[in-house]
Amino acid sequence: MAGYDKTSGNIKEYLVSEDKIWSLFNYVFSDSCRKRNTYKFGLIKSLLDNAFNGRQTDKGVYYTYEEIFAKFAENYWNLVVKYDLRQMRPDGKSVYSRIETIFKDAVANNAIVSVLEFQSLDDLQKKSLIKQVSKECKRYVIGALYEDFDGLIYEFSLSDEGLTLSPVFSDFMLKYKSELERLNYYSWARFLEQVNDENALVRVIEKLELATPRREDLSVYREILRKEFEEDTCFYCGRKLNNKIHVDHFIPWSFVKDDKIWNFVLACPSCNSKKNNRIPTKDYIIKIESRNKHIKTSHDIIIETEMENYSDDVIERMWNYAKLSGMKEYVM
Ligand SMILES: [Zn+2]
Repeated sequence: MAGYDKTSGNIKEYLVSEDKIWSLFNYVFSDSCRKRNTYKFGLIKSLLDNAFNGRQTDKGVYYTYEEIFAKFAENYWNLVVKYDLRQMRPDGKSVYSRIETIFKDAVANNAIVSVLEFQSLDDLQKKSLIKQVSKECKRYVIGALYEDFDGLIYEFSLSDEGLTLSPVFSDFMLKYKSELERLNYYSWARFLEQVNDENALVRVIEKLELATPRREDLSVYREILRKEFEEDTCFYCGRKLNNKIHVDHFIPWSFVKDDKIWNFVLACPSCNSKKNNRIPTKDYIIKIESRNKHIKTSHDIIIETEMENYSDDVIERMWNYAKLSGMKEYVM
């Protein structure tokens, strides 16, 4: 596999047109781009799911391998364990890719119930799985995808802790996040159709979408915001909150695909359900930014970890990109 033995690579050119990046993506999604397994789709999805977790550096936008492969592991946990979808074209030696084997072994050897969410596994198990996935991906997909994109999207070294997206590519990915997600699902599904039987393929696109699970229980955020920051009114309408308090994704989850405290506000059930899958009007951005300034001062370990990558302009950028992706505004 081209590039799979690469251990590092620099960004070959910083000024790349959107047309060029589209043509590279179209190539990667096409059958001409060789794929023995689905790792390339998995890596693209992990980068998209992590889109707003990067740190600006003088060279571009930096993501740690740990962040990237934690998402990757969670996605494959669902695809392999929960949905039983094969991820590799069988060859003479094996029918399962290494990553599938990692999860299948973990379930068999630790008597893990396969309906468990990845998030519910105990911390040591999660860490060990992410580590194994990371090792495999570093070896077989980071260099390969780098080559497929002609060395124009990121610079990396496998001995570092992470990789850096070129600024132009990072902007492109945010601007076309929804389109890229859809194209990636479509191409991934086409691959899966070649290696799975019909039963596994029922609602295959939905299974790919659900591979990044939406966290159901947000009570930990509710408690932090309520107790530590004494938020006792609805973020949107300002009415006093009673015992029914909803935790709302300021920028909807369907766009962000991530749960971070800086994107959560407390809302009354009425505002929360009326807002639904829409973005708030622009004037609320200032309000949440000043709220975030306040919680940034906390020394709570959950908050400190989640605020680590927070930058002052991230909400506004997310808002603009969500709007561009077609999200409507909710006018109160
Ligand atoms: Zn309200």
